[in-house]
Parts: sequence; C-alpha cells; structure tokens
Amino acid sequence: MIEDAAQAVGVKYKGRSLGTIGHLGAFSFNKMKNLNIGEGGALLTNDNQYFARARSYHDMGSIMRGHGDSFNEPAFIGSNMKVNEIQSAMAKVQLRKLRPALERRQKRRAMMSEILRQSSAYTLTPHNDEANAVSLTLIAPTRDAAIALQERTGIWNRLRDSSRHVYTNWEPVLARRTFHPKMNPWNWAKRDITYSPDMCARTLDILDRTCVVNLGLEFPSFVMRRIAERIAA
Ligand SMILES: *Cc1c(COP(=O)(O)O)cnc(C)c1O
Repeated sequence: MIEDAAQAVGVKYKGRSLGTIGHLGAFSFNKMKNLNIGEGGALLTNDNQYFARARSYHDMGSIMRGHGDSFNEPAFIGSNMKVNEIQSAMAKVQLRKLRPALERRQKRRAMMSEILRQSSAYTLTPHNDEANAVSLTLIAPTRDAAIALQERTGIWNRLRDSSRHVYTNWEPVLARRTFHPKMNPWNWAKRDITYSPDMCARTLDILDRTCVVNLGLEFPSFVMRRIAERIAA
C-alpha cells in the first residue's frame, strides 16, 4: 500500500504521522506544498527491501554508493530522480519551520471553524480528526448558495472551480490517452474501462457546494477572526 501524503508533511491522523500508515509513504516538496524546496519529494518506509528498491530506482537502478548493500534480488533498470545538494540544504531549513507552521495553521483553523460553525447558512465539512485538521471547507445547501458565499467572501473558492483537481477537466484521462499505446495502462486491464463526465454525480454535487476557507496565514489572527465573524453573521 503506497500512501500518497504528498501535501501533508508533518500532519498527523489519529496519533499517526501521515506517510507512515502505508507500507510506503510519498511526500512532495513542490512549490504548492506545505514544505517546499521547488521540486522533489521524499519516500518513507520501514521495510528494508522497499527501501533498497526505491533507493536504487531513484538513482538509475544503480547498486553503487551502497545502494545495493541490502538488495536481495537481481538489480533492475531505474530512473533518475536525484535531489541536488542545494535543494537538500533548503529542506533542512524548511524542516525546522514545519512544526511551528503547522501549529499556527491548526490554531487558525480551530479559531475560524468555531466562529463559522455558528451560521446556519452552510455547514462545516465533517472531519474525522478535528484536533489535527489543517484545512477548512464549508458545504452550502445548494450550488447557488455556494456561489453567493464565494462572492461574499471574494477569496473562498468553490472546489468545483479548482480546475485539474476535478476529474471532468482531465480530458486525457477521460479519453484514456497516453504518450504511447504500449504505455497505456487501460490496455493492460483485463476488462474494458470507460469514463464519462457524469459518472460521479454525487462528487460533482459536493464539489459544486463546497467552498475552501482561506485561512489567511499571511495575515494576523484578528483580521481573519473579523472576516469569519462577518461571514457567520
Ligand atoms: C502534489 C501532489 C502530487 C504530485 O507531487 P509532485 O511532486 O508534483 O510529483 C501527488 N499527490 C498529491 C495528493 C499531491 O498533492
């Protein structure tokens, strides 16, 4: 089980660190993430064989530089995904800032959710572990109500408008189109897989009605408190 924790470095779920729940955990450090060094990422595992395989794979399938020390299988061809020293130096500094940044985010989320919870115009999206939550979304009763909420705040975007994060905008996936037919995983499947833009109607309805609350971490807390109070009123 590979756990995609790309956007959740340092975040916990019911006492467990994200990225440590699956056999392997993957983090991304690209510019959109909570720990960023421009590009690159990290892989976590406590399985020696997975570690040896991943380490070799990221360095062209090499068994030099100690990569092959714990290998107990024939070497294979890999890829080249090495992180450079400058990025690693940046990661070292970023790591020190991670804990305080997450704590600030959690505090801000808790403060704003407490205020926003008081309105009956929308509901807070249910969360399975409120104490560790680092983001906040609201669900309006209708699409129009969500659009009105979005317009009222001016900064809280509906998830439906998040472009590539909505499957209907992944035209190559819907069309099952890859760069080469032999590399097309839909051709490997033993059954016919088809997609249509309306196949997840419930998902689209939720995305239509959901607004992301901008926690405004670049602003002091009293500013965001006032904004939350105005929206909840
Ligand atoms: C950003 C992200 C990725 C991709 O990360 P890259 O470093 O750009 O490859 C994958 N999964 C999730 C959930 C992400 O947020």
